[in-house]
Amino acid sequence: MSADFTATLADADLCVKCGLCLPHCPTYRLTAHEADGPRGRIALAQGVMGGTLAASPVLLKHLDGCLSCRACEAVCPAKVPYGRVLDSARAALATPSRTRMTRLLGMVLAAAPLRGLIRICLWLASHRLLRGNVPGLLQSWPVVRRWRRVAAPAEARVALFTGCVGDIAERAVLDDALRLFSAAGVTVAIPPAQACCGALHQHGGLPAEAAALAACNAKAFAASDTVLPLATGCGAALRDLGQTQPALGHKVKDLCSVLAAALDAQPLPLRAMPLRVGIHTACTQAHVFGAKQAVRQLLARIPGITLIDLAAESGCCGAAGTAFITQPQQAARLLAPKLDAATGVDLVVSANIGCSMHLLRGLRQRGMAVPVLHPISLLAQALPPSLPGRSVRPLGLARPQGRW
Ligand code: SF4
Ligand code: SF4
Repeated sequence: MSADFTATLADADLCVKCGLCLPHCPTYRLTAHEADGPRGRIALAQGVMGGTLAASPVLLKHLDGCLSCRACEAVCPAKVPYGRVLDSARAALATPSRTRMTRLLGMVLAAAPLRGLIRICLWLASHRLLRGNVPGLLQSWPVVRRWRRVAAPAEARVALFTGCVGDIAERAVLDDALRLFSAAGVTVAIPPAQACCGALHQHGGLPAEAAALAACNAKAFAASDTVLPLATGCGAALRDLGQTQPALGHKVKDLCSVLAAALDAQPLPLRAMPLRVGIHTACTQAHVFGAKQAVRQLLARIPGITLIDLAAESGCCGAAGTAFITQPQQAARLLAPKLDAATGVDLVVSANIGCSMHLLRGLRQRGMAVPVLHPISLLAQALPPSLPGRSVRPLGLARPQGRW
């Protein structure tokens, strides 16, 4: 083993095996198997990093089953940095075959011409053309505005992080965030030189590549003192990796929390929306940013709205990066209580695009025609016509997240 895991082994040694984290772990709650919980996975990681445990299909199954939701880290009395320990174990287990897909995807995202191809695929996928739904494409034709450059300065004290494809995949959220901050009197930049957040590499056993992306982002956001990711999953990676870049980590904040504070300082008149809205709080928003109530605090200012937490006690929805693709059965079991709780809501909000896609797919599979929006986009729809830049879109129609 060539890498030096001395520091991460010391992190893992902080675990006193008390088990207080176990009831908070979604995968442990599903199987009640020690190796599917944080305490067991830390023990496995210690063996892997210390060189006393070799990779086996069973060991990989237990470590790869972790959702990286960090619910365990948030409740650990010994403050074990679980996320760091698991990422190091994944790096120790990295082999050419295990990292091939991550490397390939990372190269595609880093290569400008190929990123253009991804953008086209995302655009087509989001408009159902790939599923043969041409009327769906025509109905949402106005979304071609996504090809326009975003009208925002390159530098300002507050900046938005879009990463590799956020400006296409979440273009409506980006536009809505710019409108809301503008209405609140806050100038927001979108630095053009920003790179991928590095989550893919960080969780895929490629720490050197992740650190290189963090260095690139530290440079791109050097002129800002607040960096706001559109997706909390990207934000968590940016924040974690930013620990190695002191000029970046402490600047990364939760978008909903910062916007709520701006609107507290500069209240806006909002139109009434008598809707029942289900809130799904992404694990990264709750456990990495410590912003469990941020979406509720942001949306509670809309007159007439009713906010309902979607089975918050059940934890992760199962999306967890690419886990909803690689572990579909586990993802479906974790999603079920959220979908049960969504019965009777008019729409669902989530601040992480991965969770939104997973929720939307689950809702459609149950035959529930419930839109899934970013909370920023819902709030933007409450702006009255008298305010500049109001986004005039009927709820539930032509919403990018609703097209997945
Ligand atoms: S990770 Fe923390 S809460 Fe869990 S067993 Fe170890 S010390 Fe206890
Ligand atoms: S990160 Fe989440 S899934 Fe993984 S061990 Fe901790 S609580 Fe369980």
